[in-house]
Amino acid sequence: MLFSRYKVVLQFLITFSALACVPTLYFYNEYGKITNEALLTVEKSNLHKLEYSKTELQVSLDRIDTSVHFLAQNGLLHQAILNPTNENISALSDFWLLVARTQKFYSSLRFIGMDGMETIRINSSERVSEIVDKERLQNKADSQYFNYAQSLKTNQIGTFGVDFETDQLEIIVPHRPAYRIILPVELQGERKGYFVANVNLKRLYKDLAYKRETENLPSIFNQEGYFVLSNDNTPILGNLLEENSAHSIAKLYPSLWNKIQKSHSGTVKEGQVWLSFTTSELNLDGSKLSLIFLLKSDLSDLQPVKNEDYNELFIQAFFILIIIFLISFTFVAWNYNHEKNSVASKIARAAMNGMSAMVITDHNNRIIQVNEQFTKSSGYTLDEVKGKQPSMFSSGNHGHEFYTTMWDSLESDGIWEGEVINKRRDGSLITELLRIQTVRNKQGIVQFFVASFIDISHRKELEDRLRELSEKDPLSGLWNRRKFDAEMTAETQRVKRYPDCEKASLALLDIDHFKRINDKYGHDAGDKVITNVATTISSQLRETDMVARIGGEEFAIIMPHTGIQEAENVINRLRISINIQSEYDITASAGVTEICDKPSDSYKRADIALYESKTLGRNQVNVMLISESTSIA
Ligand code: GH3
Ligand code: MG
Ligand code: MG
Repeated sequence: MLFSRYKVVLQFLITFSALACVPTLYFYNEYGKITNEALLTVEKSNLHKLEYSKTELQVSLDRIDTSVHFLAQNGLLHQAILNPTNENISALSDFWLLVARTQKFYSSLRFIGMDGMETIRINSSERVSEIVDKERLQNKADSQYFNYAQSLKTNQIGTFGVDFETDQLEIIVPHRPAYRIILPVELQGERKGYFVANVNLKRLYKDLAYKRETENLPSIFNQEGYFVLSNDNTPILGNLLEENSAHSIAKLYPSLWNKIQKSHSGTVKEGQVWLSFTTSELNLDGSKLSLIFLLKSDLSDLQPVKNEDYNELFIQAFFILIIIFLISFTFVAWNYNHEKNSVASKIARAAMNGMSAMVITDHNNRIIQVNEQFTKSSGYTLDEVKGKQPSMFSSGNHGHEFYTTMWDSLESDGIWEGEVINKRRDGSLITELLRIQTVRNKQGIVQFFVASFIDISHRKELEDRLRELSEKDPLSGLWNRRKFDAEMTAETQRVKRYPDCEKASLALLDIDHFKRINDKYGHDAGDKVITNVATTISSQLRETDMVARIGGEEFAIIMPHTGIQEAENVINRLRISINIQSEYDITASAGVTEICDKPSDSYKRADIALYESKTLGRNQVNVMLISESTSIA
């Protein structure tokens, strides 16, 4: 039982594992994919945002390009240069002030004369835009960008990279990145000076926010890897200022910097941070501005993306595993039942095809199945007996009591075994060793009776024959001494059942002077005499009488239902017949008594009576009654 349970559990585990193996690999793979996909999604989204910011910046630069050309070629500027009256300068200043206020992306607009002196200047910030007083105008002759401006050709727009905003050659603190656009102004074929516009990169930077998510604006750094713009006041332009030099991408994110050297854009994982970058070459009227855009994502940002997919995957896996569980369970249950049924049906088939004849009846004791052996033994086929009761095989040899005992036993023990004599189809008798078993349901109600039997007729005959041989005297064909003793016991028991005994008698008969026959005619002749006397006795007696040869030439006769007087007469008649029918004038003596007390006592009395006959001269019959037996004891 334990083994069977263990086997079922093992079978279930094997089936479940076999079925779950491929889905598990699939889900494991999917699980891995989710992280990768989440990373790809974040990377894609970041690159998309970067691309957006890059394009936005280029759009702003294009607008600035148009704007600076317009401002540099504007009539008011030309008038103020050619005729720098207070009125003209004031008109230009007002115009520039209006432009600075409306276009917002300039931090200053200037005209610098050929001597490097600022002649007109507008300063603009988020909050305020102002015309710079004459006294505060500066000479930029020594500045690097003025030198650079002088190298510009006619109509060539110049950009002087990204630098710090300065005032009086001093870097303004907090540091602000400045992007200077310089256009030489030439009138009537002569260079009059330079239009210089400082672009407020911080202002432009705010416009780069993708979908206004200002908290995740990209950091922008230059080709040397130093920050130009960032969302978190990171010190900028370390390439220009020693004190900011620690804040370079190469130092902060070496592997990112490494990747940037090799690719145009990409993503790098640095610890828990995911860094996406794209390099850009912005263009301002042919002048290039190379910047790198960087967006940081914390890996924890992936979690919500992953969680959603994980949940979906777990739900899928859960249902798949439940389905596999149910399939495995159903399979194992089916297999278990199938195995059980097939074993049971194999056993049933084996039992049905065995040596025993079998008859199965339903709860009403109507035959529903018989096997081949039954047909062989009884001669009946299934069709001939189906629906009938087994009582049809009854031989009539058993009484009512026999069958009552059988049914009582089936009712109480569920089984009955015994020898039964039944009738074959051809009417011959069959002795069977029969075993009947009941099959009950869970409620204990009998469903079937299964009867199996072995035909022991042949064995029975053999037994009878052997028994007969062991009880018969081979010479005379009469019963022998052993049978006589058994019969004496049986008869004594029978008569003793009646009050004062049922009448029955015993006689002992001995041939007189038999030795002489042997001596005179030989032993064979003696045998013949014994045989003849036996025949005479048998033929003279009733069928119910029992004759046995209990010694050499000594016979015993049990006469049931025969009183002593009648017995004496019968034996006397017998004595005369023996003499008449004998060849050698044979005579016999006999003793008769009643059968009632102990067999040995009856025998002794008959023997005494016989002895008396012998001593009184032979050829006579004497009786000894029980009443005379006190003398024996
Ligand atoms: P009695 O009148 O006193 O009976 O004299 P008896 O000669 O018959 O004496 P008893 O009964 O004692 O002797 C029986 C003899 O029968 C002895 C034995 O030789 C003989 N006898 C015993 N069995 C057989 C047998 O099977 N065949 C033959 N031929 N003789 C037997
Ligand atoms: Mg004798
Ligand atoms: Mg004798």
